[in-house]
Amino acid sequence: MRDPRFDILFEPVQIGPHTTRNRFYQVPHCTGMGYRHPNAEAAHRGVKAEGGWGVVCTQEAEIHPTSDLSPANEARIWSDADIPALRLMTDAVHEHGSLAAIQLVHGGSHAPNLYSRETAIAPSAMPIDWGGPLQARAIDLTDIKNLRQWYVDAAKRAQTAGFDIVYAYAGHDMTILQHFLLSRHNHRTDQYGGSFENRLRLFREVVADLKEAVGDTCAIAIRFAVEELMGSDGIEHTAEGRDVIEALAEEPVVWDVNLSDWTNDSQTSRFAKEGFQEPYTAFVKSVTTKPVVGVGRYTSPDTMVRLIKSGHLDLIGAARPSIADPHLPRKIEEGRINDIRECIGCNICTAGDNTNVPMRCTQNPTVGEEWRRGWHPERIKPLANSQHLIIGGGPAGLEAARALTQRGADVTLSEARETLGGRVTLESSLPGLAEWARVRDWRIGQLNDKPNAQLYTQSPLTADDILSYGIPNVALATGATWRSDGVGRTHKRPLPYLEASNVFGPDTLMANGPNQLPQGPIAIFDDDTFYLGSVLAELVANSGREVLFITPNPIVAPYSDNTLEQDRIQCRLIDLGVKILPLQTLAGLTTDTVTTACIYARNETTHPCAALIPVTMRLPNDDLWYDLQVRKADWADAGLETITRIGDCYNPGLIALATQAGYRYGVEFGETDLTPKREVFKGGTFTA
Ligand code: ADP
Ligand code: SF4
Repeated sequence: MRDPRFDILFEPVQIGPHTTRNRFYQVPHCTGMGYRHPNAEAAHRGVKAEGGWGVVCTQEAEIHPTSDLSPANEARIWSDADIPALRLMTDAVHEHGSLAAIQLVHGGSHAPNLYSRETAIAPSAMPIDWGGPLQARAIDLTDIKNLRQWYVDAAKRAQTAGFDIVYAYAGHDMTILQHFLLSRHNHRTDQYGGSFENRLRLFREVVADLKEAVGDTCAIAIRFAVEELMGSDGIEHTAEGRDVIEALAEEPVVWDVNLSDWTNDSQTSRFAKEGFQEPYTAFVKSVTTKPVVGVGRYTSPDTMVRLIKSGHLDLIGAARPSIADPHLPRKIEEGRINDIRECIGCNICTAGDNTNVPMRCTQNPTVGEEWRRGWHPERIKPLANSQHLIIGGGPAGLEAARALTQRGADVTLSEARETLGGRVTLESSLPGLAEWARVRDWRIGQLNDKPNAQLYTQSPLTADDILSYGIPNVALATGATWRSDGVGRTHKRPLPYLEASNVFGPDTLMANGPNQLPQGPIAIFDDDTFYLGSVLAELVANSGREVLFITPNPIVAPYSDNTLEQDRIQCRLIDLGVKILPLQTLAGLTTDTVTTACIYARNETTHPCAALIPVTMRLPNDDLWYDLQVRKADWADAGLETITRIGDCYNPGLIALATQAGYRYGVEFGETDLTPKREVFKGGTFTA
């Protein structure tokens, strides 16, 4: 039963010609599924509608071949041939009584047109911002007329495809409508450049065109970034951000407001907490009578109620919270608040889109597999009379236990340490990563009230123990250990000088804290490319030590570009006074120095250093697996039927891979037909 204090979240809201059944609004977000995987895309959005999101949007939909974002895999509405693929999505959303929205985009100088080979366009001649040393040409008045027509044509196709809401999108520094508005992009001297009203002209015209073209049956939404967090060089919510809303106040039937660029809009929990956009978007409702939707990684229903009651928002927008829990609204409606699988703000999802593949989610392992493998975030096939012993209570073990008990199997989980959570427990105690504990806590919460789950801590198991238990199915989720011998991407052989006592592996540092380190400068050698090296640098710097950050890469944590945090990570280390030594590899270590070598010139430099922390790669904790393999002859007598390695114990990787491995073990156990479906190109579009 729903708690009456959340009733306000389930009020219908009028959006132009349509009414949304509640205030939950999945704003446009990319998935990496896009036009190349339309069945997967449709199934993903359909699960959101089923889960109670009253409005479900596409990702950005390219309106024309001059807006070709290849190799990115967004939505595409270049011609009528794209309509059937988009129809899959609108049907999936409508089936559950939700409204389907499409975010039309012309990417302007953000679209390199690598596939279409068209010339990129912009208000003024500018380099393309990614995709190669290309330039966009300045468009003339005829081009502008054509561009407006492309928007109209795309909107009509969207209408035919069944969309209820059509977006004019001016955000993320990725759209030509925003580029015309921004004086740093728009250097024109005609009626489309110069004054604010001139720079706004195209945006205003396109909104009017869309209304005229499809406004009778489709609601016209505007997505606009009110703040760019770059001072007067960009849009500020106190200046032109506000002016735009005032100027177009009553033009759309719904305002979708946020921050730009994407790295500001989708900040990770390491750098921003729930509601981080509120100071910038709070004013919007005071200058328009139209409904306003905004985002801020909202997962708490109490916060959502506050936002509505305080007149800040009319609709609770969500991208990441709807990915981590597609059934979040339904859970609030059914009074199952503790079942909400809260987003941890890690941005593994954005890394999927940024690497042009279907996204994964750390919290929700079914994401991207709704169609391909038929995985569902809430439903799972029953499995009765099946007994399992899971060794290790990290994300893989906990998720395997959760999925199996949801199926009805009996599960005993043994964890060696005093606390469950494995690496998540260790890592969530590091600076900025506290929300990652949700990976552990949600799973423990789900397991605690299950009579068929027995969880034991302080229970390190040996091969003898396992054989003596007589539980037929064993999953080894014993994790992995960071190497401390330097082997990794750069050094393929162990470095003999790292056998010294002033070398501390990341696991030791995380377990015992920075106070165990000797006095003096501490060097971190980061060859891992993701977050951990930089977080450990923060940890050590926060303890008052001088820190050297040695990396063979040109920048700190390059993979974190994909999680939209590279810039912030590098800035944070600079702010903390960490000395960054890029393009360097290790060449020697003594009790009080570290020697590095330039990866190109090989010239060496020696730096004062009391201890070194190598962050390179991990090795599976698979001793137990091999102990059990040599005793295979004893299995049958012991009643042992299957032993499976899952998660980091099988192959160390991201936490998202561990939860997925746990889920996969759980959902696939006892199943025989496991071949995933594949989309093939047939008759001009991808199909099942
Ligand atoms: P994953 O990411 O694959 O879940 P983790 O390293 O996070 O891996 O978790 C592995 C967990 O397994 C750790 O909490 C560790 O204490 C536990 N573990 C390792 N070996 C044993 C063992 N022999 N018996 C019980 N627990 C173990
Ligand atoms: Fe949230 Fe991380 Fe899942 Fe993205 S991948 S939705 S940030 S938990």
